[in-house]
Amino acid sequence: MRTQVGIIGAGPAGLFLAHLLRQAGVESVILESRSRAYVESRVRAGVLEAGTVETLSALGLDARMKRECMIDDGLDIRFRGKTIHLDLPGLTGQHVVIYGQQEVVKDLIASCISLGQPLEFEAKVTGLTSLDGERPEIHYLQGGEDKVLTCDFIAGCDGYHGVSRAAVPEGKITHYEKTYDFAWLGVLSRSPPLPDMTYTNSDRGFALCSRRSTQVSRLYLQVGADENPEAWSDARFWDELHQRMFDADKVEIVEGEIFQRDMARLRSFIAAPMQYGRLYLAGDAVHITPPTGAKGLNLAVADVRSLAGALGHFYRTSQRDKLARYSEHCLKRVWRTVGYSTRMTELLHKFPEQGAYRRELQFAELDFIHSSRAAQAAIAEQYVGMPYEPI
Ligand SMILES: Cc1cc2nc3c(=O)[nH]c(=O)nc-3n(C[C@H](O)[C@H](O)[C@H](O)COP(=O)(O)OP(=O)(O)OC[C@H]3O[C@@H](n4cnc5c(N)ncnc54)[C@H](O)[C@@H]3O)c2cc1C
Repeated sequence: MRTQVGIIGAGPAGLFLAHLLRQAGVESVILESRSRAYVESRVRAGVLEAGTVETLSALGLDARMKRECMIDDGLDIRFRGKTIHLDLPGLTGQHVVIYGQQEVVKDLIASCISLGQPLEFEAKVTGLTSLDGERPEIHYLQGGEDKVLTCDFIAGCDGYHGVSRAAVPEGKITHYEKTYDFAWLGVLSRSPPLPDMTYTNSDRGFALCSRRSTQVSRLYLQVGADENPEAWSDARFWDELHQRMFDADKVEIVEGEIFQRDMARLRSFIAAPMQYGRLYLAGDAVHITPPTGAKGLNLAVADVRSLAGALGHFYRTSQRDKLARYSEHCLKRVWRTVGYSTRMTELLHKFPEQGAYRRELQFAELDFIHSSRAAQAAIAEQYVGMPYEPI
């Protein structure tokens, strides 16, 4: 098989890229190791910045999102009995949209299939060859058979544990990494959520109450990195959440059936440059931000907008100037965003090794944000997201 752009991974990065390339008149094939059902049911992000919403709209894929999404106008941070309320439209003139990543993925897949966009499920990529030649190849295993996809370019959109980044020869790419000693235990519950996204920094640890729909809450607790999620009975989860949210009477947060749970270790990771030979990396394959900033999906979309722009330009003009700028262009946004997510992570979590001195500094900072509109505006501006700059 042969194509112009071989895309590895049908997560948000790979799916958006295929649609954007198609719009630019560039053909592509997506190879995805998992089944369609698995990919469509993977619960993760839910906060969409204006740039991500704009991209769905420009592709004509926003009809269901417009019907089913919720608009988030506020963000609350609780600490020591106080609440910082960030009025997003008042501080920035903008809001964010709540629409589950798995719903975005379903919409993108359905549209790929109806448009005849080649998308192979259960096609596990095993290796990449000739990355620095004219015709790079993707080797994959499908139905017990070894197959090869020959391409002009390869887009590595296969997430943190994928094979693309690992195919870059040693020494050609630098890894920057910070791993935290804790994780988030996340659940989905059939219960009406709090009206605003609500973070808390309590002496028992961080928690977050967010929304997926009017009847589904997405709730997180900071837990030890090696904790077993099965050790958290539903009753224990609810009890801990009430305590961390200062909901002493257990009336504010409505308990419901917990129907999904997962654990994610917090880390920051950036690989640079985001390109080697004819391989271009995008999304979680090349950077991970702690979920505190709610940015991973949005960063993946910003990457592939730039990549599609650069590839479209190449096929129209035979000029490689935009492809040559891809990594530098994306990394500016990536570092700023990782910086924001890191600051939010450090401000809101209880660090096991922290000690009383750093803990008091954390609360002094929260007190300052509580009293300063300028400090609130700085957080709100980064939360709603940077405007997208075309490559
Ligand atoms: C708990 C949690 C909460 C989050 N909350 C938010 C949020 O609120 N807002 C936000 O913006 N982001 C959030 N994120 C991050 C967001 O989910 C990711 O950044 C996003 O999924 C990245 O998309 P991607 O397409 O780059 O990678 P992925 O979604 O990981 O997709 C990669 C795809 O590649 C496939 N693949 C891997 N290896 C191979 C192979 N060898 N062959 C073929 N296919 C392969 C995988 O199966 C997968 O489908 C959250 C993440 C977590 C874990």
